[in-house]
Amino acid sequence: MAVFDAVDFDQHENVVFGFDKKTGLRAVIAVHDTTLGPAVGGCRMYPYASDEAAMKDALRLSRGMTYKSALARLPLGGGKSVIMADPQKDKSDALFHAMGRFIDRLHGTYIAAQDSGISVADLQIMAAQTDYVAGVRSAVDDHQRVRSGDPSPATAYGVFVGIKAAVKHQLRTARLDGVRVAIQGVGNVGYRLAKHLSAEGVKLYVADINPVNVQRVVDECRAKAVDNNEIHRLDVDVFAPCALGGAINDETVKHIMAPIVAGSANNQLDRPDHGKVLQDNGILYAPDFVISAGGIIHVHFMRNGRTWDDASRHVECISNTLEEIFKRAESEQLPTAVIADALARERIMAAAPHPVGDALPPTLMEG
Ligand code: NAD
Repeated sequence: MAVFDAVDFDQHENVVFGFDKKTGLRAVIAVHDTTLGPAVGGCRMYPYASDEAAMKDALRLSRGMTYKSALARLPLGGGKSVIMADPQKDKSDALFHAMGRFIDRLHGTYIAAQDSGISVADLQIMAAQTDYVAGVRSAVDDHQRVRSGDPSPATAYGVFVGIKAAVKHQLRTARLDGVRVAIQGVGNVGYRLAKHLSAEGVKLYVADINPVNVQRVVDECRAKAVDNNEIHRLDVDVFAPCALGGAINDETVKHIMAPIVAGSANNQLDRPDHGKVLQDNGILYAPDFVISAGGIIHVHFMRNGRTWDDASRHVECISNTLEEIFKRAESEQLPTAVIADALARERIMAAAPHPVGDALPPTLMEG
């Protein structure tokens, strides 16, 4: 199996393979870049078809985290871990303890957070073996409610703020009432996004492969349910992909009518050149790794003992970053995702090497 020659290898600092004899744990941790701080990123559990597939995911996703954190102005690098197992049947305390010990061996250069297939409860089991797990503590929000470490509410809030920024830039209005938004995927993030939008008078259209999730949003947000195969074709103001990656692909990209694409789903562009097609069609794309940073911001702030309010204020900065990207994309006549990549690289290169340790510098909020 090629590592240094793998397509997704991008000068990663460290890629380690972990095996535990007792439990059969097979896992990969990829640390992409720690220039800005320790590499934080989700721990994913998935029954990968091969070692190559697991490593590819870890390499690709860890690089994305470096860029996401840099653009969110967090003192964090990018990392990701994957457990090669089926979350439906392979979970056990022993397995997660073994994963915790594996993470601990990296001495904090990698800090694990929640990702698909892994719950906050699973992370808490890992945390018995290592301090390097984030998003496991509950916190009190600004309404004095106790909340779990689940990052979805903050991600949804960030997407909401990002949609406002995109509407302001593209439609030249600061008001959302009467704006029409089509959300594909109304799970943890999409549902909460729908709640924010409907509270502002947005007309919602929703689709999901799970009818129960659709019905919840229809009932609670007066949303209109639409065909999941047609939702990208709707004549609306915003198309918000909040399900799986690849929503913007060869088939869908030519039918998108909305002047804005802005949602939480990771890897929305099936290929990078789909960003160029959107630009050529006059569609403003809010790069996924910028608009969906609310969760990582929240996880980082909670881990460092900051308040819910502090975290929310930092999430709101997503709108400034998007505005900078939108303006620069216009002036340089380049797709927004290309500009976002360039901005992230500039921030990383400008930073002095940061000693590993995940304390939050007090000056961060000024950024
Ligand atoms: P989720 O699993 O809770 O919700 C996803 C929803 O999409 C579910 O309701 C599911 O039924 C639906 N869905 C799945 N496949 C679909 C398809 N082909 N067509 C339509 N609907 C489909 O996940 P989530 O936590 O809400 O995350 C949504 C997206 O946002 C994912 O791509 C995730 O990687 C990304 N994201 C999430 C967070 C977070 O904090 N949860 C942070 C950053 C990015």
